[in-house]
Amino acid sequence: MKAMYLKAPLQFELRDVPLRAPENGEVVVSVRACGFCGHDLILARYAAEDWQPFGHEFSGVVEEVGADVTNVRAGDRVAVETSTFNFLSDPARNGRPDLDTKGPSYMDMRHTAMGFAERTIVPACLCVKTGGLPFEQACFLEPMGVAYDLILTADIHLGDDVLVMGLGSIGLMALQMARRSGARRIYAADRSHNKAKLELAKAYGADEIICTDETDLTVYPFERGSVERVLVTTPPGTIDLATRAAGIGGIVAFLGISYGEQAMAAFDSNVVHLKKLQIRASNAIPALYFPRCIDLMNAGQVDVSRLITHTFPLDDAVKGLTAFVNDKHTAIKAVMIGDGVSARG
Ligand SMILES: [Zn+2]
Repeated sequence: MKAMYLKAPLQFELRDVPLRAPENGEVVVSVRACGFCGHDLILARYAAEDWQPFGHEFSGVVEEVGADVTNVRAGDRVAVETSTFNFLSDPARNGRPDLDTKGPSYMDMRHTAMGFAERTIVPACLCVKTGGLPFEQACFLEPMGVAYDLILTADIHLGDDVLVMGLGSIGLMALQMARRSGARRIYAADRSHNKAKLELAKAYGADEIICTDETDLTVYPFERGSVERVLVTTPPGTIDLATRAAGIGGIVAFLGISYGEQAMAAFDSNVVHLKKLQIRASNAIPALYFPRCIDLMNAGQVDVSRLITHTFPLDDAVKGLTAFVNDKHTAIKAVMIGDGVSARG
C-alpha cells in the first residue's frame, strides 16, 4: 500500500508500506481527500529530522472495523479528528472537555501511513460522519475546527472591527466566520506576494486588504484608529504588531505552533497594560466542533472550495506537493484526491 513520507528540507517520498489490521476500537479509513497543512509545511521545511508519514486533515470511507466499534461501520463517510477528549477525565467531568489535552490522539500513534496515503488506521472515536458532504470539503473539517476555536476565543461581538493577520486557509476561514459573527469592518493583512490569497480575502468579505511588507501596520489608518479584535494566524513574532493594532479593551486571539527561536514572541508590556489587552491562545487539542463546521459548510456560511488551489492524486503527490510549496503566488491549499482502493500490502 502506498503512503507519503516527508523529511526536512522539503523532501517528499512515496513509499510502499504495510498496514496492520485494526485493533480493538480502531478502524481502517480509505482516504479520499487529504489537505496539506501549514504544520506539515513546517515539518517539511525544517522540523522533521527523520522521514515520517504525514497528513491529518482527511476524509474518507470506513473500510474495515476492529472489535468493539459501535459509532461507525464499513461504508460510512467520515472525517477524522486529530484528537478528542476523554469523557472520564477531570477537565471533562468539571465541564471543560476542551481542557483535556490528553485524550485519544491520531497524532500520537505510531503510523506507517497517515492521511497522505491510500489508507490509515484511526481510533473509531475520532471518526465523525460527514453524510453527503463532498470529500474534498470534508477534509477541511479539521482546520475549520481550528478556525472556529479561534473565533470563539476572540469573542467577536456585533459591530466589532476585526483584523485578520495571515491569510492562509485558517485565516481565510476565520475571516468568513468573523463576517458571519457580526464584524462591522474586517481588515485582512498578509504580505503582498500571493495575490490569490488577497483576492480571496476580498471575496470572502474583507473590507480592506493590508500588505504588511508595503504598509506599516502600526500606523495603519484604521477607521476607528484601532480594532476591537485581532485574529493572529501569523508566526508568534507578530503578536507585538497585533497588540499595537488593538484598541483599549481589545482581544488578541492567537494560534500557531512554532519551533526553536521562531516560537519566541516579545511585546511591549506597557502597550498591553495600558490598553487592558487580553492575549488569548487558541489550541485545537482536543479537536472540536466538527458537527458545527459540517453545518456551516452545508448552510453555505463558510466556503472552503475556493481555498483549494492545488489537487493531485496520491501517485503524483511528490510532484504535486513540490509544485505547491514552490508556488509563492497562487498557493493556498493543496489537497490530495484519493482514487479508490487497492490491496493492503
Ligand atoms: Zn492541520
